Amino acid sequence: MPQAVRPPLPPRPPELAAQPAWRSVEFISDLHLAANMPATRAALQAFLAATDADAVFILGDLFEVWVGDDSRFDAFESGCVDALAGASAQRPLYFMVGNRDFLAGHAFCAAAGLRALSDPTVLVAFGQRWLLSHGDALCVDDVDYQRFRAEVRSPSWQRAFLTQPLAHRRTVARQLRDASDQRRRAMAVDGWADVDTAAARVWLTGAGAPTLIHGHTHRPGDHDLGDGLRRLVLSDWDLDGDPQRRRAEVLRLDAAGVHRRSLAAGTGRA
Ligand code: MN
Repeated sequence: MPQAVRPPLPPRPPELAAQPAWRSVEFISDLHLAANMPATRAALQAFLAATDADAVFILGDLFEVWVGDDSRFDAFESGCVDALAGASAQRPLYFMVGNRDFLAGHAFCAAAGLRALSDPTVLVAFGQRWLLSHGDALCVDDVDYQRFRAEVRSPSWQRAFLTQPLAHRRTVARQLRDASDQRRRAMAVDGWADVDTAAARVWLTGAGAPTLIHGHTHRPGDHDLGDGLRRLVLSDWDLDGDPQRRRAEVLRLDAAGVHRRSLAAGTGRA
């Protein structure tokens, strides 16, 4: 077993203070929007139109793939940008990139009206500090992935990739996704990497926050990390696949605490 890579801890994650007037905020992640996921995309639009939360936080992997902000003019992407822009005119939408859409940048956020968040960010809301992350940086046991992540998050890799023609970038992204899916299937045999408890505790302690909210693992849950520390995991969304496994959860935070609600009919999760 190779030595796990310890994720670098920012000395102090940036902080975002909730507006005093906010009564509730909602978190979603891992929608993995793609042109062949029309029901999932429609659910996002319906959710954004119906929510009464004062702000919505999208914690990464909004898109199955994002190959650069110049793709925002293509049919599928521009439809998503328009929908987000309409919703962001109603209430603040915050967005943190995930491992699939890490190339979503300033031009995309500006066009969609999204307020970009660093990973991690401390949200100060309702008398508590909440550490927000996509979560992939904390899956430290997946050494190969952490190496890949360090490479593709480097400015030099991104500069080189973004100078490639858009069609070529889409091809590369498809290959990377196929390799990642194969790997995920192979790892499903001996259990794929989850957020590392020790690493999560280091992040929380460093940030002075008792609770981590993240996505990425597609394993919604509420984990006691000891010493009053806690890890809340968001669900992924899939309303297009297997009817038995339709899922789309929202985590809501208000002065009374956290609550989950499901937007997928008939899943039994309240
Ligand atoms: Mn992810």
